[in-house]
Amino acid sequence: MNADLLRLAAVLGLLALLLVLQWRVGFRHDMRVRPMLDNLVVALAGSGLLRLVVPIGTVGTALWAQSQGLGLFSAIGLEGAGAIVATVVLMDFAIWAQHVASHRWPWLWRLHRVHHVATRFEATLGLRFHPLEILVSLGWKLLLVVALGLPAAGIALYETLLALAALWTHADLALPPRLERTVSAVVVTPTWHRVHHSPERACTDSHYGNLLTAWDRLFRTRPAVPPASQRTMAIGLEGWRSDADQRWTALLLNPFRRAPRPAPTETAPHA
Ligand SMILES: [Zn+2]
Ligand SMILES: [Zn+2]
Repeated sequence: MNADLLRLAAVLGLLALLLVLQWRVGFRHDMRVRPMLDNLVVALAGSGLLRLVVPIGTVGTALWAQSQGLGLFSAIGLEGAGAIVATVVLMDFAIWAQHVASHRWPWLWRLHRVHHVATRFEATLGLRFHPLEILVSLGWKLLLVVALGLPAAGIALYETLLALAALWTHADLALPPRLERTVSAVVVTPTWHRVHHSPERACTDSHYGNLLTAWDRLFRTRPAVPPASQRTMAIGLEGWRSDADQRWTALLLNPFRRAPRPAPTETAPHA
């Protein structure tokens, strides 16, 4: 089985497990079938676009770059397990930085906004990114793969971890408090990421991490006042809360729409 099929099987397996857990022990009971289907249609549109316009993925590019001896890792002779660990850590930082830029640069925010207008926080939201945002993200990853000469095994591992983390960190679940503290000391949990989906600007523009929580700790991108109750806090963005805004057609068109008049807490770059 090739790496793509293995990753797809892992993603579908984890999604099935999380759906059952959300249904049985959901934290906010944020599951509704229609918005989940809308999320999945947006996700399918993204993977369809990628297959149409990009002939070679990150792993294929890494194999090519390695065969040409391109990039930093080749230049300094970094290989083996060390290179794989370095790939996961460096890529996680790079994707964290892309996420910060997506909140600061207005044109990137228009694409990323599609993820944030969701009013329900559950696992399928982890698959809902605008196809053009996925394309931008792939371009950034390919640049890094070539510039750093990342090993194919490392980038394949990171892509798989990122896909699984996207599902897990959006799950409508909460770990018991002590376990939450231990786990979120290292990796992102649903409770860590849920803060990022609060409409309060200080919270939306915080907790950017995907896999590791180190970057938000290191760069102090955490809100001074976290939400009082994650069980009852609002999810989404002011001005985009209607059911019509959550349909897959509206989501695909969202980047091209003018933002509704911003509420006092919703100023640029959210405009
Ligand atoms: Zn975000
Ligand atoms: Zn999210």
